[in-house]
Amino acid sequence: MAITVEPSLFTRIIAREIPADIVFENERIIAFRDIAPKAPVHLLVVPKTAEFANVTELAAAAPALLAELVAIVQQLADDHCGGQYRLVFNTGPLAGQTVFHVHAHLLGGPLPEGTLGQ
Ligand code: 5GP
Repeated sequence: MAITVEPSLFTRIIAREIPADIVFENERIIAFRDIAPKAPVHLLVVPKTAEFANVTELAAAAPALLAELVAIVQQLADDHCGGQYRLVFNTGPLAGQTVFHVHAHLLGGPLPEGTLGQ
């Protein structure tokens, strides 16, 4: 019996099946505004491949892609929030991950000093 795997939410955004406010795209990575922002700047930076569920898998299998993602985060932070940012990879449901297609949350300020959450 064939197993059908539903495309992830982010794969559907990459395919333009779901609209998003896209701020960056190249062959490997896309970035768009989070639909429910938790900071003045809240971007999702997403490898286009759906192969990796989380940052641990990405780092182990494709470190160059992770390094490129971080470089793009800096470029986006330079453009959107003065070059300073908080980078969050929720990893697992107990950590708040809801989309199992690896993605970074780029949060930009001003952010409250000395806090990690809301
Ligand atoms: P996670 O909870 O997996 O770390 O992050 C998933 C993020 O995707 C959440 O911050 C959530 O607000 C965002 N999100 C969920 N649905 C959509 C959508 O349809 N469009 C956009 N742009 N972001 C979404």
